[in-house]
Amino acid sequence: MTDTANRTALVYAECMDGKLRRVALEALGAARRLAGDGGAVHAVVVGGGPGAALREAAAELAARGAGVVHVVDDPALAGFAPEAYAAAIGAAVAAARPSVIVLGHTAAGRELAPRVAAAAGGGHVADVTAIDLGDDGGAAAVFTRPLYAGKAFEQRRFLPGAPQVVTVRPNNLPVAEPVAAGSEGAIAALPYAAPPLWTVVRGIARKAAGTVDLAEADIIVAGGRGVRSAEGFAPLAALAEVLGGAVGASRGACDAGYCDYALQIGQTGKTVTPKLYVACGISGAIQHLAGMSQSRVIVAINKDPDAPIFGIADYGIVGDLFEVVPLLTAQFKRIFE
Ligand code: FAD
Repeated sequence: MTDTANRTALVYAECMDGKLRRVALEALGAARRLAGDGGAVHAVVVGGGPGAALREAAAELAARGAGVVHVVDDPALAGFAPEAYAAAIGAAVAAARPSVIVLGHTAAGRELAPRVAAAAGGGHVADVTAIDLGDDGGAAAVFTRPLYAGKAFEQRRFLPGAPQVVTVRPNNLPVAEPVAAGSEGAIAALPYAAPPLWTVVRGIARKAAGTVDLAEADIIVAGGRGVRSAEGFAPLAALAEVLGGAVGASRGACDAGYCDYALQIGQTGKTVTPKLYVACGISGAIQHLAGMSQSRVIVAINKDPDAPIFGIADYGIVGDLFEVVPLLTAQFKRIFE
């Protein structure tokens, strides 16, 4: 594992419910850039469900520029077990000998990346939102990550010699584009030795958070305490549906029992970076901004013209959300129908 002009990048391509997550394709895009024109790109998919799903995921990666896709398919990997998944990625690291390893900055990615870095004897930069390749094709790339709720940005570079492990924040980097027909990569089964497990995930109780995954949603309509009740979320859900987005919430709304904590965005909730964030009846506390201030376009609807949320909003609407949101929904319906 060296820093040479011809680099090898490995992507851990995370799947959910047997399907590739979009952040896996964003990680692949980052890996292709980091490997450079002369470099090699490997990907690894891990699971133990129906083999067809993993093969489909592998085929998509191969069609989008992964030169080799390692498939680690084992019944022991049917459910997420951090040690087992880290070992599966370790098998791919041993096979590919990458100089850089890219994962999505998801719940699983955050758990796996430090293990992968420690096992590979490398360094780790988490939550990357931008990559500057510099002049040498990626070997001394600069990785940008937001700090203090997006009020500051840190730029990090790895010292030469050790493998670099990077997690990329969903919705920030472009997905890997398909390669020309006939240039698809190879797909190979990768043997895997199950390690002793210290922790086992017995099950995942999924709380209903709508049909669109909040962390990867392009559009989020979020409600705060100003929504006033569980029923008050209905107009927000209607707007989200018309826009093809997801519904989120402030902790104020969650604490008041208007919605499930699965929707909470902020310091102690989810970090989101959609293209459009519509904040309805949310005051804009610093802890809320921590989870959404990097959204590309922020629209705030609040009846208090002095609400702090207007300080970061690109567009502000001073008004009653129960009047404004249905008007927006009706207008967008007219546009889209
Ligand atoms: P409020 O601050 O009560 O604001 C409600 C807003 O709705 C007001 O601005 C009001 O003008 C407006 N409004 C009312 N009625 C209407 C109407 N009809 N139409 C339009 N506007 C209306 N918060 C988070 O969100 N996420 C976190 O992860 C988080 N983590 C935290 C961690 C810690 C350690 C602490 C101490 C706090 C955390 N908080 C978090 C809480 C945070 O400080 C705020 O209390 C919370 O964000 C406030 O939620 P809110 O904006 O919905 O409610």
